[in-house]
Amino acid sequence: MPPPADSFDYVIIGGGTAGALLTKRLSEDGSSVCLLEAGPRDTNPLIHIPAGYIKNVYSKKLTWGFEAEASAGTAERRFSLPQGRVLGGSSSINGLNHNRGQKSDFDHWSERGNPGWSHKEVLPYFRRSERRIGEADEKLRGRDGELPITDLDWHHPVTTAFVEGTPELGIPVNPDYNGEQQDGSGYFQRYIYNGYRYSSARAFLRDTKKRLNVDIRTNAQATAILFEGKRAIGASYSKGGSTGQRHKVIARREVILSAGTINTAKLLQISGVGNASLLNDLGVPVVHNLPGVGSHLRDHYGVRMVSSVKDIRTINNMAQGPALLLEIARWLIRKPSLLAVSPSLAHVFWKSNETMTTPDLQFVFSPASFRAGVVGLLDKTPGMTCGVWQERPESTGFVKARSANPFEAPTIQPNYLADENDQQVLLAGMRLGRRLMRTRALAPYFENETAPGDEVQSDDEFMDFARQNGTTVYHLIGTARMGPASDPVAVVDAQLRVHGIDNLRVVDASIMPTMPSANTNAATLMIAEKAADIQCLLIAGTR
Ligand SMILES: Cc1cc2nc3c(=O)[nH]c(=O)nc-3n(C[C@H](O)[C@H](O)[C@H](O)COP(=O)(O)OP(=O)(O)OC[C@H]3O[C@@H](n4cnc5c(N)ncnc54)[C@H](O)[C@@H]3O)c2cc1C
Repeated sequence: MPPPADSFDYVIIGGGTAGALLTKRLSEDGSSVCLLEAGPRDTNPLIHIPAGYIKNVYSKKLTWGFEAEASAGTAERRFSLPQGRVLGGSSSINGLNHNRGQKSDFDHWSERGNPGWSHKEVLPYFRRSERRIGEADEKLRGRDGELPITDLDWHHPVTTAFVEGTPELGIPVNPDYNGEQQDGSGYFQRYIYNGYRYSSARAFLRDTKKRLNVDIRTNAQATAILFEGKRAIGASYSKGGSTGQRHKVIARREVILSAGTINTAKLLQISGVGNASLLNDLGVPVVHNLPGVGSHLRDHYGVRMVSSVKDIRTINNMAQGPALLLEIARWLIRKPSLLAVSPSLAHVFWKSNETMTTPDLQFVFSPASFRAGVVGLLDKTPGMTCGVWQERPESTGFVKARSANPFEAPTIQPNYLADENDQQVLLAGMRLGRRLMRTRALAPYFENETAPGDEVQSDDEFMDFARQNGTTVYHLIGTARMGPASDPVAVVDAQLRVHGIDNLRVVDASIMPTMPSANTNAATLMIAEKAADIQCLLIAGTR
């Protein structure tokens, strides 16, 4: 006999970037919150040491093991799509770089029929969780939040030369890409403080878990959202995987789905909210026909360009032997150390052509290179990598549950490079990436381009290289797209309520209607802050 259901004001499904922040905010006024997280607690030490990224990003214990389906844009390759499965979610395994995006991204969300989401209106929510340490425009940046945002403190001459070389190509150095303007080159701001990763779990749950009104249940995978008619009333979950004991938890006010772009769509579908014909095929009774669920998946598709380096050691050589011991010692005494850097150290945001008013290309740079492009396996000889992607891709894919079994991974088809414009922008990016590695400033270190290599010259050759070698940048969005009821693929309204359902909200990266011109963690935090405010305003209104 399963134990009887227990009840809370809120049941939050997913303790990742959004869910951890929401748990803190919604429990602040004494409301009771049950947080269900499918993964374990974040006790693995490599989560907290930033360089542990390289070990954890494909960890079977800490990620969901998802794969992207093959498509023409990836030369029919399938590849891993890591998503965090641990307290802190993807913020416990991500690349640690803080990047808000461009003002026009959010103005565009608002113009699509989502009142309250213009840049001016979301700016306070970007600022709220942020504790910017370093120079900043006080009107734009936050100083008092829980999440420290620090500057790079480990400077390698090759990284410096990369940034200092960009003005040769007419690209200015920008001291704060999260400030007034994104355009230019510079060093990444990171979720790293005092040598440690600041995941959402570390920033928002460490104190919150001591609150008596908060119950955090880990290794607890929600298996369905429970409904009475079209009203969400709670969730069922399994403690300990597919063979674990089943439980129920009841939400007196709301169920909040923060399971991330893939699992949010899948859980809605297997719970009866989605495209009715898909649900019929799955044998799932239809609670509400909402065709947009799982459609409109988007991701950044990145290509790495690599050069060998001469006359200096790079991370390839410093991450082994006595040099590594020295870096460990430096980390232990809290000095700038290789152990406390994000995988990408420098950036360029620039335009693919002169008609653009804002950048549409993001470049990431590191004085390191991977063997045969495999993350986790560094080259033995010195190397440097410049990755590039289009900031606002239009190629659109889908997530579809394969069966009603909550433990079976869904079909994930991002359809990378399906859109012709995405191809053209990436092509311009690869050509500019080649020039960024060949500036006069980098000349003392640049030896040879090893990928794609000098033999690649024509547009077709570049595109072939991109299809054969590109991969996810891990920025999955859009499967529970925000939009008005008149939008046939909208899943949630501007208050993040699921269309046609009561007491169910989605609060995570899946609600983004279009891709922000950025890595997606900062926008997800903003979404969660705004959702918390919407809730608090609602409750204040009912008192
Ligand atoms: C490898 C990697 C590198 C990245 N690098 C960066 C970067 O440098 N900068 C940046 O800004 N962004 C980066 N991102 C993207 C960013 O981390 C994500 O956009 C963000 O974390 C998404 O937050 P979320 O709350 O939507 O989902 P997540 O943080 O993924 O949280 C979802 C949570 O829900 C849990 N869950 C799922 N299903 C269930 C269920 N059925 N029951 C219970 N719990 C469930 C999951 O285990 C997970 O903990 C990266 C992402 C990855 C994966």
